[in-house]
This record gives sequence, C-alpha cells and structure tokens, in this order.
Amino acid sequence: MKTVFAANWKLHKNPKETREFFSEWKKVFQSRAGAQVVFFPPATNLEATSQSLEGTEIKWGSQNCYADVKGAFTGETSAQVVKDLGGHYILLGHSERRSLFSETDEMIGRKFQLVQKLDLIPMLCIGETLPERQSGQTFQVLKNQLVKGLSLADKAKSLAIAYEPVWAIGTGQVATPEQVREAHAELRRMISEMGFSETTPLLYGGSVKPDNAKELLAVPHVNGFLVGGASLEVPGFLKICES
Ligand code: PEP
Repeated sequence: MKTVFAANWKLHKNPKETREFFSEWKKVFQSRAGAQVVFFPPATNLEATSQSLEGTEIKWGSQNCYADVKGAFTGETSAQVVKDLGGHYILLGHSERRSLFSETDEMIGRKFQLVQKLDLIPMLCIGETLPERQSGQTFQVLKNQLVKGLSLADKAKSLAIAYEPVWAIGTGQVATPEQVREAHAELRRMISEMGFSETTPLLYGGSVKPDNAKELLAVPHVNGFLVGGASLEVPGFLKICES
C-alpha cells in the first residue's frame, strides 16, 4: 500500500497562486514508488491544477461534490466534471462540511456511492469532537460515521479514510501518537470487519506539521496524512511528504 500525502487547501489560493505553487512543487518534489501525493484545491482552481499537473504522477481532486452529476443544484461541484478534467479523488465529509454546511452522514453516503460509480476515489473524513472524546464516545462516533458513510459503498472499488479528530483540525493541537494508535487500530479492525480491503489507506489529519510528521507516520496503521494549513507552502508540505 502506498503512503498517501493529501493536501486540503480549503478556501485558499487563486488560479495564479495555484499555478505558481505547482511550478515550484514540480521543481523540488521527487516522486517515489511508495508514496502518493494528492492535492485538493478549491473548486475554482481545478482547471489550473489539471493543467499544471498534466503528465505527472501527482493526483488531485475536489474538496466536495454533489450526489448527482448535473441538474438544478446551484453552487455545487460535479464529480463528473472533476473526472473530465483528469481528477482522481474527491474528499467527502470533511468536518467543516459537516459543521458549517450541515452535511449529514446520509448525504455523504450518497456522494460516496456516486464517486465510486464514476471510478474516482472517495476520501471519507471522520472524527470525533472534543465533547464526544471527553465523554468516551470516540469509537462509537467513528463507527457511526463509517457505517453510514460507507452504507452504499462498493467494497471492490478503491476508497480512502481520513481520521481527523475535529479538535485537532486547524488548532495546532495534534493528537498524541497514543491517541492516533488507538483510533487507527480500531478503525483498521472496523474496516476489515465491514468487509473492506485490508489495504484501504487510513490517513491521519489534524495539525500535521513538518516537525511531528515523522513520529505520527511511525504509528501502526497510519498510512498517510491529510494536511490543511501546512500544505499551503511548498517547503513545509515537501518536508511532510519526505517524512
Ligand atoms: C484539514 O483541513 O483536513 C486539516 C487537517 O487541517 P490542519 O492540518 O490545518 O489541521
């Protein structure tokens, strides 16, 4: 299984800045057989990303999509267009989508089904809030999000899961290696109990930085990272990818 280093740019960068980033990235980044890098730029920058990364091994995708490919769905992103532009992945269920845009597990499950149907790879984000962790509900929350998010999934097709404790996203408060170990071991167990492939990549996300990446990547069942803030500048993200 390849180690996946995914960059979630959220609502940062315009097309010009996107092209500049990739022009610099391609000069310094050395592709390796055992690693896969994936960029999730904002939807307005997908074309610039597609053009910048054409002919490279670097994968990319959108941060969200709608559960239908076209129609009267104002403001949404079509997974079909992501595919037509040459994208490979779609991020689904990020905690900001859940909390700020009221996405439910049921909606996420429908999107997941469509993304797989198009032969794109859904990267499903799951994670507990701080009150949920403090009240001992972490595993139950993760199980719920997994079961509902994957309820329409095709087990024969590719997918990736990103464990992102909500309290660690954008806060600088990274989960400890022990907290990550516990969660990833349980997720690996749940995924195989649900009949998904043992080689489903399990990423960790939440305040990953160049100085904590190595330690976190050494935790069993951590198969890569989903990185927000530290993926916006070439030197920092490069360091994480080299960890
Ligand atoms: C994210 O947005 O998925 C994320 C993990 O952000 P950060 O790395 O900034 O915590």
